[in-house]
Amino acid sequence: MSTVFVPEPHLLDSPRGRDWPLPTALGGAARLDEPPRTADAVIVGTGPAGLAVAAALWHHGVRDVVLFDRGTRPCGRFFDRVDTLGQRVLRSPYEHHPGAEGYRDCELLDFARLNWARLTPVERREVRMSQAGHRSVVPVDVFEAYCRQVASTHRVTERTWQATVHAVLPGKNSVTVCAGEHEVSARFVVLCTGEERRKAPDGWWPGPETPEGVRYWDERAPGGVDELIVVGAGLSAAHLVANGLAGGAKVHWVFRETGERYQCADVNSSFFRPEGRTRFDSVSWEDRLGLMRAFRRASVMFEFRPGLERAEANGRLVVHRGQAVTGVGTGEVRLADGSAVHGDHVALALGTVPWIGDQLLPEEVVGARDGWPDLDERSLAYCRAPRVFAVGAAAGMALGPAARNIDGHRVATARVAAAVAHGVQRGAPLAASKAVAGV
Ligand SMILES: Cc1cc2nc3c(=O)[nH]c(=O)nc-3n(C[C@H](O)[C@H](O)[C@H](O)COP(=O)(O)OP(=O)(O)OC[C@H]3O[C@@H](n4cnc5c(N)ncnc54)[C@H](O)[C@@H]3O)c2cc1C
Repeated sequence: MSTVFVPEPHLLDSPRGRDWPLPTALGGAARLDEPPRTADAVIVGTGPAGLAVAAALWHHGVRDVVLFDRGTRPCGRFFDRVDTLGQRVLRSPYEHHPGAEGYRDCELLDFARLNWARLTPVERREVRMSQAGHRSVVPVDVFEAYCRQVASTHRVTERTWQATVHAVLPGKNSVTVCAGEHEVSARFVVLCTGEERRKAPDGWWPGPETPEGVRYWDERAPGGVDELIVVGAGLSAAHLVANGLAGGAKVHWVFRETGERYQCADVNSSFFRPEGRTRFDSVSWEDRLGLMRAFRRASVMFEFRPGLERAEANGRLVVHRGQAVTGVGTGEVRLADGSAVHGDHVALALGTVPWIGDQLLPEEVVGARDGWPDLDERSLAYCRAPRVFAVGAAAGMALGPAARNIDGHRVATARVAAAVAHGVQRGAPLAASKAVAGV
């Protein structure tokens, strides 16, 4: 007898904006004063990846660290994005936490249990699911409070300066980081710059300006939309569709895949485990590209399925499956078969692209191939600049499809923090590069 997974839409409805008790000196915003001129390590970006690296370095005893972020608070871009979408729960389960591997620390699950009284009955059941080793759903609210706690207890916030880094210039014994007016000379630099939204292909509309009534998934939705068109097949698109339906709009959902794909995680779960990473490690560059294509496909959490199917059955949702878009204009999405879908607003959710360090590092240092940087697989240092490392989506071709996920940051952080700490404490040169199989 097979077991049927029963999706529960109410899991998506965790409350947002609760008060979480934090030790008094904690939290706060990034600094605006002059940062130090030198540091053992500079971390660019304080999203979940930068936070994980900073916490791990703190445990390694590397405390002379400067962090830069364009935003004002740890993981600000991540929470702004999920809040813009109205996303109330994470896709990744409790064990995919940004804490430091191998150290006694308060992990995400511990934090949720410590705040038991603040959790709803549904959220408590998910904690128990995680304790029993099952897939669990984590409230965004719990994750945000936890990130603030990690940032505070590992002294991240007080070492974060709000500034946009515009150049990272590797030298023989140090790396110069230029951020606005500031210049910091660091022994090591870790780039944790995340992903940018994928833009619409050239030719979807004339000129550089997005047409009136067309927006991307990470921009605020206008009110009073009667007929919404959503383009894209992933979780962000599903949130836009669900929000449109909840707001009373009729929704057209357009994607080129032949059908929507419902999955717990966006990446096959084996890639979160050593055996999946080994499978990735042991193949050629071309086969890795194939695995990335095959296992990084757009999908939607199971919990959306009943609501979306119901809306399609009653005609409030029209799903245009297998339809490639050729053009977008005000109130219109044109399709490859020559037809068009009409509405009064268009929302584009075309995914994200890793920021691999180009525009910051000299082009020859990035060594881009098929859109990926040339990284040492063991330390995740740039092969041509061994004092500069990448953690996050940019490490995809070294770590596999889970690199952009919170759990991938944990794996990457363990390698990078160990390499940086070794370099800082010993002053020793870093390990030589290991070539990718087949390169
Ligand atoms: C809507 C959404 C939901 C997601 N949900 C999940 C989930 O549930 N589970 C999961 O595992 N993954 C999820 N992901 C994937 C997610 O992108 C990553 O888990 C996580 O946000 C990536 O963290 P990061 O630190 O690499 O990037 P980001 O969170 O994007 O952080 C990068 C930071 O770098 C800063 N920065 C970039 N360039 C510069 C510069 N030049 N100067 C200064 N600062 C700079 C940015 O301001 C930003 O704060 C989700 C992604 C999205 C978009």
